[in-house]
Amino acid sequence: MIIAGQPVSGTGDEIRGYDPAAGVDLEPAYRYGDDSHVDAACAAAAEAFGAYRATTAEQRAVFLETVADNIEAVRETLVPRAVAESGLPQARIAGEVGRTTGQLRLFAAVLREGSWNGARIDPAQPDRTPAPRADIRQREIPLGPVAVFGASNFPLAFSVAGGDTASALAAGCPVVVKGHDAHPGTSELVARAIAAAVSACGLPAGTFSLLFGSGPGLGTALVTDPHIKAVGFTGSRSGGTALVAAAAARPEPIPVYAEMSSINPVFLFDGALSTRAADLGRAFVASLTMGSGQFCTNPGLVIAVDGPGLDEFLAAARDALVDAPATPMLTRGIAQSYAKGVDALAAEADLVVRGSADGPEASCRAALFSTDAASFRASGVQQAEVFGSSSLVIRCADYADMASVAAALEGQLTATLQADEIDHPAAAALLPVLETKAGRILFNGWPTGVEVGYAMVHGGPYPATSDSRTTSVGARAIERFLRPVAYQDVPNALLPSAVADGNPDGLWRRVDGQLTRN
Ligand code: NAP
Repeated sequence: MIIAGQPVSGTGDEIRGYDPAAGVDLEPAYRYGDDSHVDAACAAAAEAFGAYRATTAEQRAVFLETVADNIEAVRETLVPRAVAESGLPQARIAGEVGRTTGQLRLFAAVLREGSWNGARIDPAQPDRTPAPRADIRQREIPLGPVAVFGASNFPLAFSVAGGDTASALAAGCPVVVKGHDAHPGTSELVARAIAAAVSACGLPAGTFSLLFGSGPGLGTALVTDPHIKAVGFTGSRSGGTALVAAAAARPEPIPVYAEMSSINPVFLFDGALSTRAADLGRAFVASLTMGSGQFCTNPGLVIAVDGPGLDEFLAAARDALVDAPATPMLTRGIAQSYAKGVDALAAEADLVVRGSADGPEASCRAALFSTDAASFRASGVQQAEVFGSSSLVIRCADYADMASVAAALEGQLTATLQADEIDHPAAAALLPVLETKAGRILFNGWPTGVEVGYAMVHGGPYPATSDSRTTSVGARAIERFLRPVAYQDVPNALLPSAVADGNPDGLWRRVDGQLTRN
């Protein structure tokens, strides 16, 4: 663990990384922290908050870029460790290093661009009748120390220096990370890179800490620590909802931004099936099996009208899956949950195909099932996320049946439409429903692969997330850790520069309702 820049040994249970491809535990051992470590990290974060939030946007941008540089500097050590701890291919992990440093640099650009300040000025109208108007100015300020739960399935991009940490640090919030047990070595290497950047940039040591511990134990203590003012989480529905409940039960409740569970429906329209069913079947399998299906955007549900086009899609998918090798999953626990989820689906739906059974101990043997719309709507099981390469195809009688499935869906991160031009009227009828269900709507693509940019939404209604108004990927993720403050008749000398007279920061500001840089 690292608390306020200092390496600290835990006192609790021993944990080790596990190499799921080789089936062996890794050296060295790490130890869980206890309540005293949570207290120390959170108190240091609270102490750091005043000085850290007083830094300029430029200073925080340079800090984030230094973290990115430091991560790149340890790439040679980091990549093999993350490969060993995750069982994910080297190319995927190498790509994740780029994504992680890219996210940090994106938030540096966001800070310099400045619109995150939300600067607004309603100038005084002393002569307004019947009552004069005061001078009112608004800007965003950081919430305070943020607890981040590293995700298992992105050991870099959604973990210690992942999107939650980058966006919270950008906002001006110190961060205390609970590392995921699946990759303690990777977590420690990245934490050292962040701590070195904190020191090099002359920031308070408590700006960043990394803790290890059990979710229900140390994780809950972290979320209920009075110094913590918001939480970022990626993981299971049960873990996320437990943390939301713990945060809501605090004497001072705080927001939890939990990204949890999504089965990412893919709608295949008749025209698309009539022109490219076999290609769609093969491309679907590529998306389904990527990374052993351990993506929050894995396509776990396919909906189409029954007929020869769907038969051809299924035949191509069956051919592509039947020889697909069983591939390592991140942890033994995730492999066990996957097997349980597949068994539950098998009890209710028809098996289309399973992949090859040959693989390491904790592996994913891909599974594809089919069912009909009435059975899906009535089932309490068929809509549950099975984390891994598992998907369910719903054979619908017609487009009305398809619409009834869409209406019955829980909240999703994504909804995909495979539609040719001839399908546009049917797709247009479905779009308003899908907007109410999902954070991202895709045409003629596959949901795996989330671009990090200014327009991305990686969010959606519950259970996809605990707060559908935000995104955990992309520039707008910073908004989760900010809140607006209005300054009424505050003397110019005392105003923050973002809303001071003369626009010293050169920001775009909304003055009397109009965006201006003057
Ligand atoms: P997880 O079990 O939810 O664990 C994520 C983090 O939350 C861990 O640090 C965990 O600590 C903690 N946690 C879990 N339950 C908790 C509780 N009741 N109270 C406090 N903290 C708790 O997720 P995971 O380890 O990644 O397990 C994989 C499962 O998560 C998959 O089966 C899948 O369903 C889901 N998942 C979903 C996504 C997504 O984006 N939709 C991504 C990854 C995983 P411990 O390690 O001590 O439990």
